[in-house]
Amino acid sequence: MAGLKGFFHGRLWPLAVGMALAGVVALLFGPLAFGAVLAVAVGAAIFLGLSAPETASESALQESPPALSPLARAVIGQLPAPVMLLDESERVILINDSMRTLVGWGVENKHVSAVLRNPAVLTAIDQTSHDGEPATVQFSLPVPIERHYQAYVARVNAAPPITALLLHDLTAIRRSEQMRADFVANASHELRTPLAAVSGFIDTLRGHAKDDEAARGKFLDIMSVEAARMRRLIDDLLSLTRIEMNEHVPPQNRIQLDHVVREAAAALSPLARGDHITVEISTPAHLPPVVGDRDELIQLFQNLIHNAIKYGREDGHVWISCGQTPEGQIFATIKDDGEGIASSAVPRLTERFYRVDVKRSREKGGTGLGLAIVKHIVSRHQGRLQIESRLGEGSSFTVLLPPAPTESGGKSELAPAVTEML
Ligand code: ADP
Repeated sequence: MAGLKGFFHGRLWPLAVGMALAGVVALLFGPLAFGAVLAVAVGAAIFLGLSAPETASESALQESPPALSPLARAVIGQLPAPVMLLDESERVILINDSMRTLVGWGVENKHVSAVLRNPAVLTAIDQTSHDGEPATVQFSLPVPIERHYQAYVARVNAAPPITALLLHDLTAIRRSEQMRADFVANASHELRTPLAAVSGFIDTLRGHAKDDEAARGKFLDIMSVEAARMRRLIDDLLSLTRIEMNEHVPPQNRIQLDHVVREAAAALSPLARGDHITVEISTPAHLPPVVGDRDELIQLFQNLIHNAIKYGREDGHVWISCGQTPEGQIFATIKDDGEGIASSAVPRLTERFYRVDVKRSREKGGTGLGLAIVKHIVSRHQGRLQIESRLGEGSSFTVLLPPAPTESGGKSELAPAVTEML
């Protein structure tokens, strides 16, 4: 053994560093995390061998607590995943910064059961340190924010042996799985309601209302409304998917935001007139352009202006203004004097299928996806969405986008505002 150690000493440290670094790389690829802990552990074990004094006898080595070289500590300390090394009696030899954020300070030399409270993890550590078999367990920490982990436990047969515990954070994966499941459940539910109505009316028209001329006309009208609702929902779902898929691809074209806003408002002017809502647009004569995707920006402003009309006051007002902030951002604000939104609901508005008043949204033909689409378009354009609202007074939605780069890099002077009624 001493001969072997002599062989290791001074020759294998690059291997040790390499294996520990392989652990870091493997950690970045979740599924290989088990390989990671082994690599880290083997790296650490070789360091252990290196750091023991060359003259130490085998028995002395086995009795002394494992000593880690500064390099081993530094490598383990840098690992992004939480790591804990335990000695033969399951006392903490070392934890890295990442583990410290979970278990706190002053845990060195404590028995692991005083540091980690999870029975499943403690049992896995116990078993692995006795039989040497690696173990994997999943567990959750409910407070302060629920987090989910996979714990990998492996024994490193150094002298004396150490047990390595590595945690792989599954919280983001679990959240996205949950979001996906919720999304499918919500989308199915939203489609099932109009579908059930259409199927019901088909049965009625085939059955007792077969020869009822008046009922037939009425039922066909309702079926047409429900079919339109399904179509809108499917269109919005497809839009959302398309925008999400493109979200990492920056838009290319130079766009005049005021032109896009006017075009979106013009398309909705018949709806506004129907609800006796006056739409007022005020923009500077020369607004610097933004880099954008025209169709997406039109969709964004149509969603916001449509909402201002839908949730606005009958005989009310919608004010649309564009401009440039003192910091140079190009903005467009859509303001209404409608029902307003409770401040507790504002942070949830851009969630898919979230509605403050589900019945009202459905009556108005809403899908609950409009603001989710807005959020993704704004994010693709590297902009910001600001929402201000007061119950009973109205709401204002502001989109801020970075200006397109100019050749001079300077900020252009704005001409006086032009106001127009639709
Ligand atoms: P919907 O299709 O239901 O309109 P959105 O995602 O566009 O879905 O909006 C989500 C919810 O936000 C709406 O159901 C409504 O409750 C609320 N909301 C959006 N815009 C306004 C507004 N201008 N005034 C009041 N409430 C609004």
